[in-house]
Amino acid sequence: MTDEHGPGRITAGFREVYGSEPGGVWAAPGRVNLIGEHTDYNDGFVMPLALPHTCLAAASPRTDGVLRLHSGDVPGGVVELRVEDLSPVAGGAGGGDRGGWAAYPAGVVWALREAGVLTGADGGAELHFESTVPTGAGLSSSAALEVVTATALNDLYGLGLTPARIARLCQRAENAFVGVPCGIMDQMASACCTEGHALFLDARDLAQRQVPFDLAAEGLRLLVVDTRVKHELGDGAYASRRAACEAAARALGVRALRDVPFEGLEAALAELERLGCDAATRRRVRHVVTEDRRVEEVIERLDAGDTRSIGPVLTAGHASCRDDFEISCEELDLVVESGCAAGALGARMTGGGFGGSAIVLVAEGDAEAVSKAVTVAFGAAGHRPPRIFPAVPSSGARRL
Ligand code: ADP
Ligand code: MG
Repeated sequence: MTDEHGPGRITAGFREVYGSEPGGVWAAPGRVNLIGEHTDYNDGFVMPLALPHTCLAAASPRTDGVLRLHSGDVPGGVVELRVEDLSPVAGGAGGGDRGGWAAYPAGVVWALREAGVLTGADGGAELHFESTVPTGAGLSSSAALEVVTATALNDLYGLGLTPARIARLCQRAENAFVGVPCGIMDQMASACCTEGHALFLDARDLAQRQVPFDLAAEGLRLLVVDTRVKHELGDGAYASRRAACEAAARALGVRALRDVPFEGLEAALAELERLGCDAATRRRVRHVVTEDRRVEEVIERLDAGDTRSIGPVLTAGHASCRDDFEISCEELDLVVESGCAAGALGARMTGGGFGGSAIVLVAEGDAEAVSKAVTVAFGAAGHRPPRIFPAVPSSGARRL
């Protein structure tokens, strides 16, 4: 075993669990979202980048329709299922709220079969997973697990799926099988990101562009600050935000809030007020419409080669998440406040909110002082120290 988290170790793990050599080893990354929060399910714009942290899978196909799943990261043995028995109603291994990590990879097999991509007894496999993506930290460990599963099956069964199709099928698995109403961003990021780039994605038609994001060339660093808290509020709030956005779009007579142009925002807000729509919902609309605009602003600045100048746009995005969409929390606000006070160029929460992680853009020379200031602020407020590491724009899912 030469590598700590790599092909050698995951292969040894597979051998130990299944007593044979795997047919291959695959990796899919976690992500941070640079800008564009809660815009994907409004058909809007997002801009994630892949982390160097990955979920690895060692896998072999089986011809008897049996799916065997094992994770080195959770206690418990091999979960064994029959692919023909997988159903979102029964939940297969039991999904999401119904408990059980195996629902994520089992859901992927179910989604491939539902779509007719896998037929008959196909989809049987032995899979062993190990991940360095922190779970429940807003860094998409779940999407990494799904996408690595789909990417492995795509190769093992010669399915010829594109990364975007893989992402869609994984989202379907998480929505319908696991029971989490997530948008498309996480799976697209894990499947489609490339090294040295942020992924500009139009969540309506999945049009994408790889935007060069070379932090080092400009002497910058993007820090991820994992607050290590996850407030209970999160899951219900996600659904209620989504419902509010959809209701507002219906009231305005548009397909999704993405169709409200930034220039028409004030008129749309006035129209909603006239229709008796409550103030909180109008703030949700304002967040989504201004956030789409902020994504465009960040792209313009990156295209102009001025990464440093995206800082204030990130911080404005945080204020919008905090005040208009109301998905921040004390710890996330503290990262942004203490980071910016210590000289960061900009900072914002990233991911669903109510805990999880924030990102902080700093000049390389300030990285240490800013990290220290945030940690000290956490201590002073009585919080556990956060986990801080640099986000290096990395590669999407791949065979190793
Ligand atoms: P996030 O995607 O932000 O990390 P989620 O709650 O969406 O948080 O997904 C976390 C869940 O994904 C875990 O509770 C677990 O069920 C599953 N998961 C992620 N990585 C692994 C892994 N390496 N092994 C087993 N299950 C995992
Ligand atoms: Mg997730």
